[in-house]
Amino acid sequence: MHIIIIGGSFGGLTTAFDLRRLLPRGKHEITVISKERRFIFIPSLPWVAMGSKTLDDISFDLEKPLNTKGINFVNAAVTGIDAQKHKVTTDGETYAFDYLVIATGHRSANEAVPGLGPFDGPGHSLMSPPEAMEARETLAAFLADPGPMVIGCAPGASCVGPAYEFLFEVHHALKRRSLAHKVPITFVTPEPFLGHFGVGGFGKIRQYLEGELEERDVRYHTSAAVSKITDNSVELVDGKVFASQYSLIIPPLAGIKPVAKAKCLANPKGFIPVDANYRHQDFDNIYAVGVAVAMPPVEELPVPVNFPKTGHMTEQMAKIAARNIAADIQGGEKVSHELMVECIMDMGDKGAHIFADPVRPPRNKTAFSTGRRWLMAKRFFSNYYLWKMKRGATRSPKWVW
Ligand SMILES: Cc1cc2nc3c(=O)[nH]c(=O)nc-3n(C[C@H](O)[C@H](O)[C@H](O)COP(=O)(O)OP(=O)(O)OC[C@H]3O[C@@H](n4cnc5c(N)ncnc54)[C@H](O)[C@@H]3O)c2cc1C
Repeated sequence: MHIIIIGGSFGGLTTAFDLRRLLPRGKHEITVISKERRFIFIPSLPWVAMGSKTLDDISFDLEKPLNTKGINFVNAAVTGIDAQKHKVTTDGETYAFDYLVIATGHRSANEAVPGLGPFDGPGHSLMSPPEAMEARETLAAFLADPGPMVIGCAPGASCVGPAYEFLFEVHHALKRRSLAHKVPITFVTPEPFLGHFGVGGFGKIRQYLEGELEERDVRYHTSAAVSKITDNSVELVDGKVFASQYSLIIPPLAGIKPVAKAKCLANPKGFIPVDANYRHQDFDNIYAVGVAVAMPPVEELPVPVNFPKTGHMTEQMAKIAARNIAADIQGGEKVSHELMVECIMDMGDKGAHIFADPVRPPRNKTAFSTGRRWLMAKRFFSNYYLWKMKRGATRSPKWVW
């Protein structure tokens, strides 16, 4: 059997390493195809934007760790997927698969709001390495000549956590430089309340975040629908206009174009519909994990906020998919599991730890706590994750069946 995995990030790597452990080397071939030749620890992109880490600090080359484990690596961009003929086309060669795992993440749907950027408009973003690098360069110039700033998310965003992290990190940097008085910050979010995060909030996080923003003199607007970003303003649908010399607005996401345009593979947004086993609803030999998967929002809201698919959730999906592909091939019981979530948010001078099981309410357990120790833990975890992933160690002590 030949299993092709598209994507070399949280979803693709976890699936590849787990499958290699589950399927004998001589009998089954596993190939990872990724257009990016490095694994990049995406949750550290806000640190890249703030200038405290480089892309090299938060990444490693994929080829050696994969080859060492007996997994082929192809550094190429997939341009087409033929689900019916079991073929993947790249900008180089075409590959035939018996099983396919799609872990291609997102594209930023910047067409949703005029001015979303940085490469389509004046707004800034953090959603990919090139965008974080652009934010880093322009932020340094902004700090030399500061003014009003708007940070937040566009309607339909799902990855709202990085907007909060950027807000807290920027405010911390301004305070350290005694520049906070020169930068009135406005936070705009489609969430119905602060800390909703597209999952209905976590315990008392709403009250906590309101207090933290008020303490920092940050004006915030919830259920805010950003309608336009210009060089010097951010506009809302209700007519409010905020002056802004630096606008970082997280966009809504969509599936990547080769997946979106493949026949019968994806929904209109380009995300892939899967069952509880992360198998495609119509193709038995195609699985999808991570941000590429279609997941409904937890609730209807006045301004839409979509369901976040975090790195931690992506790993869980990948582990489930790997187990089920191995069960398809070798026989055995299929698995499925409710997703849980655990995250640490950098708040500049401290961190916030968030845990919810399951992620969709009602839940069995929700935990939220803050402190400097969580900032230390976040810094440690990013390095630890790179170290363990390079060695193919995907087993998390909290996630073992
Ligand atoms: C700024 C930011 C901060 C975040 N912070 C956190 C956090 O603190 N905690 C947390 O749990 N999650 C966090 N997340 C979410 C987390 O990063 C994602 O859930 C995770 O990256 C999803 O992994 P993935 O494998 O699905 O996709 P991605 O990480 O997006 O990777 C997609 C892969 O597909 C490849 N690919 C894409 N297109 C093609 C193509 N055409 N051909 C071949 N290969 C292709 C790419 O090269 C890449 O290897 C954050 C996200 C962002 C953007």
